[in-house]
Amino acid sequence: MKIIRIKSHVLKCPMEVELGYSQAYFNERSAHLVEVETDTGLTGWGECFGGGNIALGNQAIVEKIIQPMILGDDPLDREVIWHKVYNGLRDHGQKGMPMQALSGVDIALWDIAGKHAGLPIYKLLGGAFRKRVPVYGYGMMLQRRDGLPDLFKAEAANIKAMGFPATKMKLGFGVKKDIELAEAVRDGIGPDMDFMADANHAYAIHDAMKVGKALERLDAFWFEEPVAPEDREGYRELRAKLHVHIAGGEAEFTRWGFRDLIEGRCVDILQPETCGLGGITEYRKVLAMAHAHFIPVYNHVWGSGVAIATNLQLLLAMPDLPGGLYPAQPYLEHDTTLNPFQDGVLKTPLDIEGQVKANNGTAAPLPGPGLGIEIDRDFLAAHTVSATQD
Ligand code: CA
Repeated sequence: MKIIRIKSHVLKCPMEVELGYSQAYFNERSAHLVEVETDTGLTGWGECFGGGNIALGNQAIVEKIIQPMILGDDPLDREVIWHKVYNGLRDHGQKGMPMQALSGVDIALWDIAGKHAGLPIYKLLGGAFRKRVPVYGYGMMLQRRDGLPDLFKAEAANIKAMGFPATKMKLGFGVKKDIELAEAVRDGIGPDMDFMADANHAYAIHDAMKVGKALERLDAFWFEEPVAPEDREGYRELRAKLHVHIAGGEAEFTRWGFRDLIEGRCVDILQPETCGLGGITEYRKVLAMAHAHFIPVYNHVWGSGVAIATNLQLLLAMPDLPGGLYPAQPYLEHDTTLNPFQDGVLKTPLDIEGQVKANNGTAAPLPGPGLGIEIDRDFLAAHTVSATQD
């Protein structure tokens, strides 16, 4: 089997309500899907992390840099292809967009491998440790309007009512307002439900410590990306002084980036983004390294149904840490704000929210080989703003 073409599809659609995180407001959704074609007719799909114009940049890397390097290669040689591309790009981008672009291609190769073997990816990875995974619903994103505490409280209560066992909010307005919003979320869900707070590296250490102390008091489950990803010393200091889990990793790439984060004991909870860090091939190495240091892994999930399907496969195949009769389970991350790309790109929707409601807060992948999904090409055609030309 040979790779004959790699197509990149960048999708966009407008949003009804502008939403934000600590770094930006946005009013359109985007997704970047990668399709790898082979000479046998088998096709695989992957997704690259990186929205908006970043997706257009990654598209050029997929088409113009990675594609010529691997045309004619056997798509089953995933490790060989990964190292060929990484080594070829090392002098030009060990992190960031080149790795995001490679991730989408690598995931598509895993989809092909599963379809070729007639097995879901979790079987290729060694089997399912669980049939379903609990899902946390995130929402409570930043908005430019008054009355946010009331809105956050009501939204958190609604996520609880939808059947999610845990929820996550955004931070980013500064210490005082962020603490007020975290209090509102705790108010909305009551004392027993897990909630997490995500700063998207909005703070320097002093402010992070103040917010972290409030999250400790509110019994938050984790405090995500409190400081800049480059500030390893800040991460370590927060971990040492706060009794709330410090989480991070979505802005890190490859085993070498994660090695320093993990061996430096910077996080209590690791959040690798498979569609960005280098794909499934590299995720396995990061997961093994995290587990070698007994650090629990909760995958970072963002994007369309392709990214969600990818992570469901990975979460089924994630070994229990450390194991036992009733081991703690990883959560699937799910965006509860309106995103038509979650189910729209799939012929059979994953319907995470329906699954959560009907199955006690849990979700499972669709049956079928590879990622278990089929892409709706009509939907793609209707939302594509830039695609590789035929
Ligand atoms: Ca995050």
